[in-house]
Amino acid sequence: MTHEGPMCRERMKGKRIRHVQTWEDRVVVFEDVPAEVCGRCGEVRFTGPIVDRLNQMLWSMGPAPRTMEVPVYDLSAAP
Ligand SMILES: [Zn+2]
Repeated sequence: MTHEGPMCRERMKGKRIRHVQTWEDRVVVFEDVPAEVCGRCGEVRFTGPIVDRLNQMLWSMGPAPRTMEVPVYDLSAAP
């Protein structure tokens, strides 16, 4: 199924992507997430059941197959 992105009216293509989400002070990485991606601007859209699955995994915080170390940059002192 394809449809147009609301921003630039480009056709959305089905792809599997990496989705990074922050939640409170945690960063959670989801790999191989089925998504629709705009061919022009890269806008990402998830279909309903995928959003539910991501939220479920986020809330349950079950054991993950692997972890990443994440650098944190702070721009509070930048002009
Ligand atoms: Zn677009």
